[in-house]
Amino acid sequence: MDSRALIEIEEKYGAPNYHPLDVVIERAEGVWVWDVEGKKYMDCLAAYSAVNQGHCHPRIVRAMLDQAPVLALTSRAFRNNIYPLFTKEVCELLGFDLILPMNSGAEAVETAIKTARKWGYKVKGVAENQAEIIVCSGNFHGRTTTVISFSDDDIARRNYGPYTPGFKRVPFGDAKALEDAITEHTVAFLVEPIQGEAGVVVPPEGYLKCCAEICKSKNVLFVADEIQSGLGRTGTLLACEHEGVKPDMITIGKALSGGMYPVSAVLSRQEVLGVFEHGSHGSTYGGNPLGCAVAREALKVLVEEKLPQRAAELGEYFIKKLRAIASPHIDFVRGKGLWIGLVLKESAGGARRFCNALKDHGILAKDTHEHIIRFAPPLVITREEIDWAVEQIAAVMQD
Ligand SMILES: *Cc1c(COP(=O)(O)O)cnc(C)c1O
Repeated sequence: MDSRALIEIEEKYGAPNYHPLDVVIERAEGVWVWDVEGKKYMDCLAAYSAVNQGHCHPRIVRAMLDQAPVLALTSRAFRNNIYPLFTKEVCELLGFDLILPMNSGAEAVETAIKTARKWGYKVKGVAENQAEIIVCSGNFHGRTTTVISFSDDDIARRNYGPYTPGFKRVPFGDAKALEDAITEHTVAFLVEPIQGEAGVVVPPEGYLKCCAEICKSKNVLFVADEIQSGLGRTGTLLACEHEGVKPDMITIGKALSGGMYPVSAVLSRQEVLGVFEHGSHGSTYGGNPLGCAVAREALKVLVEEKLPQRAAELGEYFIKKLRAIASPHIDFVRGKGLWIGLVLKESAGGARRFCNALKDHGILAKDTHEHIIRFAPPLVITREEIDWAVEQIAAVMQD
């Protein structure tokens, strides 16, 4: 079936909650994808950083094919032989005491919220039902009812009320605002180290460190949502490392499984994730042997192929080359590692038309918030591939 026929079927039967570019992908490898007509594109979104390791990484595919026919799911009513190894390896790699596995990123964030509240009541001694969590303006933490309750994105929130109480929003990048917002009921500050969905917004230098210190002095958990910023994307394993910050709790997902399978997790100290009683939280698929086998291999690939280092080096190269493009439409370029936001001028007429033009030049990139184009290719991209991409981007931006 050709693209047009497939798009017609999708538009007829699929709920309209996304507005995808009209490219129908049927195959992928590394940084490249092919549509059903056989046209090749460079993937500069990498499934929102879920495929940092590159599409269909052979080692991760192998891990999946090896585990699937042997044991895929036990549920955690019983133990399985892969989950323990997963817990040990992820905790040791990222430097935390305990891990709680879930599936989607939003579930990991929900779990972090539940953990922080329970910690607030059981450890900090907050009065029942008074726990408060501080979040940032422009945040994106997922799509569940509670998570969209503290979003300030009208499209993500509209007509989904009533909303979950217990959240307060402060401007992203303003540590003083956080300090002022903390009360005796505050249990956690939840923040993306770099805001991805907001358009790769990098906070002022020292912001995370300052926030972490404020949290520490006020006995508030500093919770970093590293679902998109983590696992190599910004040039370090976790984005908080850029400021030498060790969060009290993190959420990870996306690249945790290299795009093969949904796996997410919350990691923290004993005193924090240790608050759960048996039966007080869970997930049927969370910690399943298939997901754990895939995640173990996905993390080994990240480390052994030195993908964070690649992101640091090549990201700097990519950003430099983008900044050198002379175009009447570009306002500025920002980013960290291979996570780049190209911000257009108001007069450019929106990012969507440029993304469509980029598609015609063989580059798939995502428009974000009207005026921003995001470039976040798989971290296995080469210097030569970046050179090629910049040529295409320059041609489109100068048109
Ligand atoms: C993608 C993302 C989520 C949600 O992950 P899903 O797997 O889509 O539920 C949460 N937080 C951040 C920072 C994200 O980028």
